[in-house]
Formats: sequence, structure tokens, C-alpha cells
Amino acid sequence: MANYWRLTYEKKIYLYDTYTKKTREFIPLSEDEVDIYYCGPTVYNYVHLGNFRPTVTFDLLTRFLTEIGYEVKCVSNYTDIDDKIIKEAQKEHKTEKELSSFYINAYEDCLNKLNILPLYNHPKASEYIDKMADFIQAMIDNNTAYKTKDDIYFRVSKIEDYGVLSNQKIDDLEAGKRIDVNSQKENPLDFALWKLTDDDGIKFDTILGRGRPGWHTECVVMVNNVFHKPLIDIHGGGFDLKFPHHENEIAQSEAINHTHLANYWMHVGFLLTNGIKMSKSLGNSILAKDVLERFSGNAVRLFFLSTHYRAPINYTEENLQQAEKQFSRYYQTINKAVHQLELHELTPQNLRQSDYDEFMDALAHDLNVSNSLAVIDRMTKELNSLLMKKEKDYAQISSLCFTYQKLLNILGFKLDISHLTETDKEMFALYQEARNRKDYETSDKYRSHLIELGII
Ligand code: AMP
Ligand code: ZN
Repeated sequence: MANYWRLTYEKKIYLYDTYTKKTREFIPLSEDEVDIYYCGPTVYNYVHLGNFRPTVTFDLLTRFLTEIGYEVKCVSNYTDIDDKIIKEAQKEHKTEKELSSFYINAYEDCLNKLNILPLYNHPKASEYIDKMADFIQAMIDNNTAYKTKDDIYFRVSKIEDYGVLSNQKIDDLEAGKRIDVNSQKENPLDFALWKLTDDDGIKFDTILGRGRPGWHTECVVMVNNVFHKPLIDIHGGGFDLKFPHHENEIAQSEAINHTHLANYWMHVGFLLTNGIKMSKSLGNSILAKDVLERFSGNAVRLFFLSTHYRAPINYTEENLQQAEKQFSRYYQTINKAVHQLELHELTPQNLRQSDYDEFMDALAHDLNVSNSLAVIDRMTKELNSLLMKKEKDYAQISSLCFTYQKLLNILGFKLDISHLTETDKEMFALYQEARNRKDYETSDKYRSHLIELGII
């Protein structure tokens, strides 16, 4: 199927690009490969559920683009150098590395539960310090950065289109900021690239002197060094990262590579609690690990996918319960269909092209998952009604079941369907024999197990 769909039907893909504020046809920089980078968590405590919304979104994008034949290199980072990490490590009497490793493990446990595809690379900021120092030195050399007594700053005035991504004018931004009396900045918008320090926090000896990098430099350097390219296809994260984080990444990329760093910028809407952004600092966080203890990864994924990735979603228990119920309907349907086929020594096969195309077309329009879920819902009804018929059309069941399973896989659901054992099949034969001789006492003994398998 790979490539076939795109090439045979000359299908186009559209993505909303936050930089140009337009839905644009997606044309990757190279014919067969797509490079994606989205900003990952700062690992100083257990992440909240909102942090996984970008993760699930870019996982879906990866799966969709892979399905149509691209080799997708999806990368996300761990911010393991940050003042919040230092503070937390000192509080817990741990090194920064001990603290971040602990929370990275906890994060990865959630990635597994959500069935997130393995990333092409999962870089940690701490692994790229020398590259960051070289990058900053190059900015000092070309005058886009300057050194003060305590810090190294980026000189924003050097970048003509600073503010384009977040749709803000430099003058307005400047008017809204005042220079702190203690600051040695030339301009209130200038941002720190490197903190020169010998404090108790984690620090590194580099060509710049002793200290540590700023967050905005971490990501741009990881993008450049993981992909070995000055420009990639897609860069993303949550809406909150547009300004200042991504604006500042672009500014540095322009200063060194004269590119906007990514050809398409994608920003994911917020997960809200009671209408307010879920955030560690606002204290309204619901930890992802706690949610994933109470709900299946499939339900959490479906909860996220049920709303378009750019619109906000409200977290409520009922929404998650609803998603759990909905996913269990999908699961029972597929389980029943597979087992019915197996009872007749058949397997799911033959794609239903029209359903597949409709589903893929929806995703090709800026990941319009609601329309692709509408295809799934329609197929759920159709498959169930085919399964309920007395005279079953196994050819139809087989191709519907095959397509259904494939589409659920593209959405990233984990479908652990067990296969019928010989014992299951024998039990079904015994059940039928007993019923034929009207021995209901015996047939009832098998009933609940066979219902569970979806055979009766
Ligand atoms: P942080 O650790 O705060 O830097 O966030 C890691 C990722 O999660 C970034 O891409 C953020 O934009 C994203 N994020 C944080 N809070 C939310 C939220 N409430 N809804 C959606 N995405 C979020
Ligand atoms: Zn970043």
C-alpha cells in the first residue's frame, strides 16, 4: 500500500502552517523522507496529561505519513538542563542527572502505555553541550550575540522578521517589556543563550567559559545536529511554545543558517481543566501516569484524537469514560469478527478501497481525525450488523474486518486480539451439539466463554 495511495491517486496532503498562518500543501524537502521535531518535556517531575497531547498528535502524523510511503524521522527531546531541574534536584538531594533520569523513565512508561512509535532519536540537551557552545560562539562571531559580565545574549535587533511566527511586531513587544535595572541586556527582547555561572547547579566548562545553555538554544542545536540539516520539514509543540521558545529558535537559526529552521510549523491546542490550560505552574495538573493507571492507553489516545489537534480539549472524567466505552466497542467488534472468521478457518483480507480512501483523505486534510473516526464508526455499525445476520457473508466480513483493523492501526490503537485455540473451537462444537439435542444444561456451561470470544 505504501506510496501506492499517494502516487496512484496523486493525493495531496495539507497541513496548517503556523508560520504562514495558512493551510499549505505539504511537500517534503526530500522525495521520500520527512523530518519532524517536536519539543519534549522538561524532566523535573511527573508530567501532566497535557504534555502528551503533542506526543499523540505527532505520533499520528508519523503513522499517517509512514502509511503513505514516507520514511519518517520523528524526533523529540528531553530538556534535562533547566533551572527547574536544578532547584528540584537540590530539594531532593540528588544530582540533576539522577533526577532527570528518574522522570525520563516515568515518561517512557507512559509512552509505552500510549503505544507511541519508537522515535528516530530522543536527544537530551546535556548530550549536546559542546555543539551548543560552538553554535553560540558562531553567533558572537557574527555579531548576533554578545557577552556581558554574567550572560551571553542574543541580539534580537539583528533579525528582521522576529515576531512573524507569533504574529507580533518588534515595537509592540519592546513596548511591553522593560529592562530590569540589574540586567546588562542591550534590548529588553534579547534573550539569554548561555548563563556564565559557577553556582551550585549543573554547569559545563566550554569555550564560552563555565556555565550552562538557555532552553531556546538547546532545541535549535539538537534539531541541527540530530538531522545534520539547517532546515527540516516540520517543527512543532504545544501552542504555548510559539512565543518565545519557537520564535527564539527561528531567530538563532536565521542568525547562523539563514533559514526558518522548519518548512512547516505545527502547534497543538491545549488540554484544559475547567476551561484553563493544564499546567504545572498553575497547579491544576492531572498526572499522565495517574490517568493511565485508571484508563487504557487506547482510551486516552481516543480522547485526544476525538478533537481536532488545533482546538482545545477539556479534561473530564466523563470524557475519558466515554472514550473508554467507545474504544471497547471498537475492540469487541474486531474481536468478534476475527473469531467468527477463525471458526470457519478464514482470515481478514482484502482492503475496502473506498473506506480506506475516505479515511486517508480526511487525515490528509490537516489531520482531520473527526472525519476519519466517522468512517470507523460507520464501519463499526456495518460490521456488527453483518455479524448478526443468520446467513453470514464471510467475504464481506473478511474485507471489512481487514480494513477496520488497518485503519485502527493507523490511528495508533493497540489491538491485542487473541486467536481462537483448538479448545475454543472444540468447545463451540460441543455447544452446538448440545443445543441440537436440546441439552441446554450442557450448552449453558460453555455460553459465557463463547460470548466472551464473540462467537455466539
Ligand atoms: P513543558 O515540559 O512544559 O516544556 O511541555 C512539554 C510539551 O507539552 C510542550 O510541547 C508544551 O507545549 C506541551 N504542553 C504543555 N502543557 C500543555 C497543555 N495543557 N496542553 C497541550 N500541550 C501542552
Ligand atoms: Zn524546544
